Amino acid sequence: MSSHPVAETVASLIPRARAELAELVAFKSVADFDQYPRSESEGAANWVADALRAEGFTDVALLDTPDGTQSVYGFLPGPEGARTVLLYAHYDVQPPLDEAGWDTPPFELTERDGRWYGRGAADCKGGIIMHLLALRALKANGGVPVHIKVIAEGSEEQGTGGLERYAEEHPELLRADTIVIGDAGNFRVGLPTVTTTLRGMTLVRAQVDTLQGNLHSGQFGGAAPDALAALIRALDSLRAEDGSTTVDGLPGGAAWEGLQYDEEQFRKDAKVLDGVELIGSGTVADRIWARPAVTVLGIDCPPVVGATPSVQASARALISLRVPPGVDAAEATKLLQAHLEAHTPWGARVRTEQIGQGQAFRADTTSPAYRAMADAMAVAYPGERMQYAGQGGSIPLCNTLAALYPEAEILLIGLSEPEAQIHAVNESVSPGELERLSATEALFLLNYAG
Ligand SMILES: [Zn+2]
Repeated sequence: MSSHPVAETVASLIPRARAELAELVAFKSVADFDQYPRSESEGAANWVADALRAEGFTDVALLDTPDGTQSVYGFLPGPEGARTVLLYAHYDVQPPLDEAGWDTPPFELTERDGRWYGRGAADCKGGIIMHLLALRALKANGGVPVHIKVIAEGSEEQGTGGLERYAEEHPELLRADTIVIGDAGNFRVGLPTVTTTLRGMTLVRAQVDTLQGNLHSGQFGGAAPDALAALIRALDSLRAEDGSTTVDGLPGGAAWEGLQYDEEQFRKDAKVLDGVELIGSGTVADRIWARPAVTVLGIDCPPVVGATPSVQASARALISLRVPPGVDAAEATKLLQAHLEAHTPWGARVRTEQIGQGQAFRADTTSPAYRAMADAMAVAYPGERMQYAGQGGSIPLCNTLAALYPEAEILLIGLSEPEAQIHAVNESVSPGELERLSATEALFLLNYAG
């Protein structure tokens, strides 16, 4: 660890941070109240609110968001005329899934082999602790040099969008010059990483109709137009021979310019079976961060058990398209719909409908906030340089904030490196990463204020 006084303070605060994370992990704050009592989420929300009050935050409030959950908000005033930084994390967690698959109880923070295990330890209760540690370290070393807003969401893992809608209805509440989303992660332990892009996505449902009703495949098959066969043709046209996504008019050849994802490592992470090839072209990073990816999520057709010898009159599919950064999701949706309509054969009737959509995100890495973060990471991770990674999935709140505050700079960092196994059984956090990233965040706030 560097000898910067802020980093030394963070190191001295780690035992307290561990005790606090244990308290927070003990709440079963899964925001699905059919599965886990609401009181567990309320307990976690109150814990966060109390922690903010104890740090001198004013206006601490539990916000009732439209999805029936609560987000915790607080404001810590800084020096007159200072800039405002919003720190984001979420206190809700994924359900533990297979409890028997955990080596230690999911809601008891447990140390093993130098890591702390527990649901939410990394995603994202650790993120809340990271924000607290950074602020405490600054207070012990001359004070927090900016205005701080904290928002801790209560339903991120459910995707019910409560905070997004609340933020849209209260557009001033989360306004900030810079936003730090503490819900991402380093590319690997010890390699300081900012996530600079998120792919967007669109969901389209396609229905193909060819006949008034199903027909006997012996009597009519061979000439009767089969809706399922037509749908399969249309879906297959979304891929090239090597498996690359090919939607007419949609750019598919972009290159990723940040850090690279080793192909063997990817095979291991994705648990690809021996002898099976990866699909697509370009580097792995190109494919998962910079290029479109189509996935057929479901097909309505007769299941194998109970299937009869019939030519199908109708068939449906749900198609997801991950939209590369720099491409408008609405435009991608139109292109996908047009492609499906153009590639459905035999004059079969096809109807497409958009079910959902989220914009891609790309940060401005030339901004002052990125320089401040690069300098902070160089100190907190001696000998390393800040790396740029992408994320193949989306964070809808990120887009909401980017749309509400187009001038704000957004940085995604966090504790969810690959070993953390977020969303899986045996989730854990690296205490070393918690220490280095908390120091990073504190140093970032110092640099940014200066
Ligand atoms: Zn998360």
